[in-house]
Amino acid sequence: MSIPRFLRLPLLAVLAIPFLSLSSLRAAEPAPAKKAVRMLFVTQSGGFKHGSVTRKPYQLAPAERAMTELGATSGLFRVDCTQDAFADFTKENLQNYDLVMFYTTGGRDKLKISDEALDYFFNEWLKQKGHGFIGAHSAADTYAEYQPYWDMIGGSFNGHPWNAGDKVTITVHDTQHPISKPWGGEFEIQDEIYQFKNWQPEKVRVLMSLNMAKTALKKPYHVPIAWCKEYGNGKVFHMSLGHNEAVWANPLYLDSMLGGIKWILGLESGDATPNPDVSQAQEAKAKADFEAAQSK
Ligand SMILES: [Zn+2]
Repeated sequence: MSIPRFLRLPLLAVLAIPFLSLSSLRAAEPAPAKKAVRMLFVTQSGGFKHGSVTRKPYQLAPAERAMTELGATSGLFRVDCTQDAFADFTKENLQNYDLVMFYTTGGRDKLKISDEALDYFFNEWLKQKGHGFIGAHSAADTYAEYQPYWDMIGGSFNGHPWNAGDKVTITVHDTQHPISKPWGGEFEIQDEIYQFKNWQPEKVRVLMSLNMAKTALKKPYHVPIAWCKEYGNGKVFHMSLGHNEAVWANPLYLDSMLGGIKWILGLESGDATPNPDVSQAQEAKAKADFEAAQSK
């Protein structure tokens, strides 16, 4: 007889999620790898500080709690959250992790990380098989002046014409990829939407974009929402949604995050072939949608 999964969960993880029934823990899928997968989740705000990463005394922030619980309920990974990147994002400490996730803001003067740690991260750590970087929402509003960073993500923040209270429609381009599959072909969501500069369509696979035709405020250019890419033997994905705290409680968003993590770990397959043709077609479509709205 095998040991029920919940007994194998660390006690603290179980205590942290008292509202989950044991049956839901038992129902968690794939068996955990022998060596526990660990994630370093950096939620430090060098610039704008989001509610989703704001901690109350003795409590994790909403995004931190969501990822920690996702790791525990899936039985797949453990999360360490830090708001002191200089102390925890070091060459030495990175050796302990398989996944690095950023929900950060600010330039290099405000979100301090040593040159040594960054060089190691971009040139060695992230290029290893089974390693991956996950950018959540404002990860793209980070290190805009530092090319290795935005080159790794595939683009950087260039304002958000669509604000937190706006309802937008998102189109899913790849309904098979574990990151975009949970969302179906199209969905509506209320969230702040970034547009990007330093956008590199030739290096990324766009999985989801803003549907300009079905969104009230129209702009004549492509606005990608989620994408992925390979980085050496490692993997990267960016998920632009996640400004609003409610998004971190959306089961589809969490399924999407979990899908991305399984994809990084090689537990689920997903195509990362760059699709610049999709960006090009979306750019043309957004222009047409914008012009159609202007001429009304
Ligand atoms: Zn935001």
